[in-house]
Amino acid sequence: MDAAEVKKMAREFGADLVGIAPISRLQNLPPQRNPLSISDRTKAVVVIGYRILRGTMRGIEEGTNFGSTYGMFGNSWLEHEFLSRTAYLLTSWLEEQGVEAIPLLPSTESSGQNFPDYRVVAEAAGLGKVGKGGFFLTKEYGHRQRFAMILVDADLAGDPIQDIDFCRDCDACVKACPLQAMTVGNDGAVAIDFDLCNRCQNGASPKPGSCDKVDRYAAACGRACMIALADKIANKFAQPFRKRQAWSIGLRGDKKLDGEKVAFVGGVCPKQ
Ligand code: SF4
Ligand code: SF4
Repeated sequence: MDAAEVKKMAREFGADLVGIAPISRLQNLPPQRNPLSISDRTKAVVVIGYRILRGTMRGIEEGTNFGSTYGMFGNSWLEHEFLSRTAYLLTSWLEEQGVEAIPLLPSTESSGQNFPDYRVVAEAAGLGKVGKGGFFLTKEYGHRQRFAMILVDADLAGDPIQDIDFCRDCDACVKACPLQAMTVGNDGAVAIDFDLCNRCQNGASPKPGSCDKVDRYAAACGRACMIALADKIANKFAQPFRKRQAWSIGLRGDKKLDGEKVAFVGGVCPKQ
């Protein structure tokens, strides 16, 4: 069994993305974020990703459906059904090869457990890089993917680390935030006020105990990133995503469309 065979099996089990990080790239992480804290026999981490389908964001973009489109197919089922199943199947196959394999879904510091940061591990596995807006960005799907990790006690060749810079001359996510929760420092780094994100009604959903502090993929910032990267990534579409200027909701529930205050009826955008 070698790295190529592991990656072939990951794709056969349904993964859209797969990369391998040798432990040498991760061994100096702090204990709470170090795979060696979970198993000191870890020699490599296999990272698998599922794309978040663009279509799952349509209901939020239109202001008409949040839960049964993105909430299920882009969020909870994607992570806890589809991605988890592929992680389980690949882990089972690895164990049939005599490898101890430990499957993990990303978690947060609030869980109080030792957990590798999926962004750090995915970057070490050559899958992409964290962008200014805090999203992990890949050449394949931009900001649209979720990851699981499998720690293995086998030596597997690592994938080359990618040197992509999608964020040069871009601040679409910062400008798109209706609450001004993202601020750019003098060094160009972006600070995110997650307290504001937790109160955001623009497609964000608080998600304690899993993946990110706040689920922002389909929020105004995330959809702006998707649009900014549409021509730069491999997963292209015939039609542009956005049909009209984005709607927004302020902290006091004030709703806007095309820059003007409007009254939404039952959560449905009135100009459709
Ligand atoms: S989640 Fe909402 S408040 Fe936070 S950065 Fe995105 S749009 Fe702004
Ligand atoms: S919107 Fe632009 S600056 Fe923000 S994360 Fe995406 S690519 Fe980077």
